[in-house]
Amino acid sequence: MAILKVARLGHPVLRQPAEPVAIADIGSGHVQQLIDDMIETMHEYDGAGLAANQVHVPQQIAVIEVGKNPRYPEAPEIPLTVVINPVVTPLTDEMEDGWEGCLSVPDMRGVVPRYAAVRLECFDREGKAVSLVAKEFFARVIQHETDHLNGIVYLDRMTDLQTLSHIAEWNKHWLGVREQND
Ligand SMILES: [Zn+2]
Repeated sequence: MAILKVARLGHPVLRQPAEPVAIADIGSGHVQQLIDDMIETMHEYDGAGLAANQVHVPQQIAVIEVGKNPRYPEAPEIPLTVVINPVVTPLTDEMEDGWEGCLSVPDMRGVVPRYAAVRLECFDREGKAVSLVAKEFFARVIQHETDHLNGIVYLDRMTDLQTLSHIAEWNKHWLGVREQND
């Protein structure tokens, strides 16, 4: 296993739509190794998720997991989820505001509106088709990671850049503030 270098905002790979993985390749050594390395990299940097193009591989693979995470102290836990070739469909028109950060946009946080519930269809690391409904924070992380695979970062989704905050200021002024409209 290896900790991979994470591309930061400005690297073209973050703006490049990722290619689907051939189903026959999911079980291959190089894809399985990449998934293991992505999980290790996500853990090392306390990410809630990581998309393959963030580690310079433009393939449609993302990993998601939230345990006790110091970067997201208020977030509910999400089990380790490996997402390959995802298709995300909103299940509601309702958008929820929530804070996001990104390992490719270090030390920043911003409020991003996301669909409150989505269906995720994808393949897991065994190549098995998965269809699940995700709500709230899990739905948010799925939208954030699948956006990466389409060359989109959370800053593109922000409707009010005035919430964009350095983490040190965020800890002082925003931690615990969930609603922006009240
Ligand atoms: Zn990100």
